[in-house]
Amino acid sequence: MSGADRDRDCSSQECSELFRMGELMDKRLKNVAKKEPLPIKNDSEPVYRQLIRMIEERAAMGEVKHGTHLQANNGRDALMDALQESIDLNQYLMQKIAERKHSDITMLDYQDEADKTAQYPGRLNSSGMFYTTMGLTGEAGEFSDKMKKVIRDKSGVIGTDEKMSMLHELGDVLWYVAQNARELGSDLETVAQMNIHKLASRQARNVIGGSGDDR
Ligand SMILES: [Mg+2]
Repeated sequence: MSGADRDRDCSSQECSELFRMGELMDKRLKNVAKKEPLPIKNDSEPVYRQLIRMIEERAAMGEVKHGTHLQANNGRDALMDALQESIDLNQYLMQKIAERKHSDITMLDYQDEADKTAQYPGRLNSSGMFYTTMGLTGEAGEFSDKMKKVIRDKSGVIGTDEKMSMLHELGDVLWYVAQNARELGSDLETVAQMNIHKLASRQARNVIGGSGDDR
């Protein structure tokens, strides 16, 4: 069926909705590709080693389940098996992209929007950092104060109103995190990536618990 035939098979409303969904998906995929940063070297275990280990584990499972490893000339149609697995793979990839991009706002998008509202003394020179540091601790204090009042007035039960006001305060904290990153010549996405890599490294070395910034 040609593209023109397909166009005639949907009503104008259906075609309009399909076109809108297509544009949205295209925008999401372009957004993923555009914002993908260069890899940052870190201490986590190389992925190829994790993959080799997983292959060995699955081979062992396969031997238990089927009584043999996967071998050539085993009587199965490998192309059909591969096709079925690839269909599943594409569904999992699409699921993950849909889950990641249910909102079009990325860390860099947020940083850009936060920058547009950033007006304070000494911005992006030597004194701006004083303002953003005090702002960060001030907003963290406001968040803490909301929780204190929940304990005092609501027996520690966070209701809908309290939840919303605490989420707003977390947003204020995020704004100052973004501006502190900017004052340090960086951005929110870099801060997030550095944090994830640090935690992944600690997890790989089994030192999530304990203390010390450099563990
Ligand atoms: Mg606030």
